[in-house]
Amino acid sequence: MTNDSSQHTDALVLRNAHLVDLDTGTWREGDLLCVDGRVAEDGADVPDGARVLDVRGGFVLPGLIDAHVHVTAFTAGLGALGDTPPSYVTAQAARIMGGMLDRGFTTVRDMAGADFGLAKAQSEGLVRGPRLAFGGKALSQTGGHGDNRGAGTLLHDDHPCCAAVGRVADGADAVRVAARDELRKGAHHIKVMASGGVASPTDRIDSTQYSPAELRAAVEEAEAANRYVAAHAYTARAVNRALEAGVRSIEHGNLIDDRSVELLTEHGAFLVPTLVTYWALKQEGREFGLPEDSWRKVDDVLGAGLGALERAARGGARIAYGTDLLGGMHRHQNEEFRIRSEVQKPLDVIRSATSVAAELLGMGGEIGTLAAGARADLLVLDSDPLADVAALADPARHQVAVVQGGRQVR
Ligand code: ZN
Ligand code: ZN
Repeated sequence: MTNDSSQHTDALVLRNAHLVDLDTGTWREGDLLCVDGRVAEDGADVPDGARVLDVRGGFVLPGLIDAHVHVTAFTAGLGALGDTPPSYVTAQAARIMGGMLDRGFTTVRDMAGADFGLAKAQSEGLVRGPRLAFGGKALSQTGGHGDNRGAGTLLHDDHPCCAAVGRVADGADAVRVAARDELRKGAHHIKVMASGGVASPTDRIDSTQYSPAELRAAVEEAEAANRYVAAHAYTARAVNRALEAGVRSIEHGNLIDDRSVELLTEHGAFLVPTLVTYWALKQEGREFGLPEDSWRKVDDVLGAGLGALERAARGGARIAYGTDLLGGMHRHQNEEFRIRSEVQKPLDVIRSATSVAAELLGMGGEIGTLAAGARADLLVLDSDPLADVAALADPARHQVAVVQGGRQVR
């Protein structure tokens, strides 16, 4: 690096591009210059030595953001992660993260499992993958979605160094300690399990988890640190009490009602549907390690998800892109675009995976936009995704290049 501004080696210009305007849903023809990892002002001089990428009329979007992933979930049997050496889990996570970047995702929000070390390794370039907003381990009550013991297991072995995705904390004080501990370790958000789930062995989908006092304790601790709480929740009963307690993002939300949508908009909260994972779990879950008991629970949520998305979109709720894929099913990450476009316009689905997700991550203006000053995270496609969302759903066919921090990474 040199101080001489005429000697920029870290400049990239995309020539002959269609540049998206996400506010209007239109394209502008032109070049896009990136300098020192950020989008330059329109019309700025191209520095000598800038690399040139002629995209030949390709369509340029901000790099995609997936707001619900588990980068350590190399198996759908999440209970096994705690018994797997963390070194092995990290190696698997590096592979999974590389795959996400190759599918156009330049930032992801990890919803349990990823930690400070993995985010640091990515930011230092040791691991090739999307930028990581992580929450550490998810907080769960005993017998909740983050308690991976089967009913026949009596011993509770919740070792803090293992690679499990959850930690059990019961009672408001213990929830506070657990939240503070995750925040101490750099958590971008606190994940709580506020209802039953598919992958947990002993709970029911329709159970509520955590008392209002416990949920509020997590919210208070997160807000004290200028962070927020994301809650795994399926039914309206679980979703609405989480929103009333101050939770900022609802994960899944397949069985919400009209009151849920009112609460989402009243509180400025976000809904993060993860529709593709139920489809994938039903088709392939057992093959990739989902236990039989869990597989039977998939039907409880599979059919309702698209209706919930439609209800939330109609009510004007902020909706972010999420996938929640596990094990060998990560390869379906872009299929969520196709599923959502059954009830939403392509522009709205694209906003979910760019500008809206950026707001959820507290990074509005920084990522998820092509505006000057934003990080130069870009996706180049060979066809117009506003006309046909298949351009995003099928990256192997339509993706021309991925740029992250001003560097072409694919
Ligand atoms: Zn969940
Ligand atoms: Zn999840």
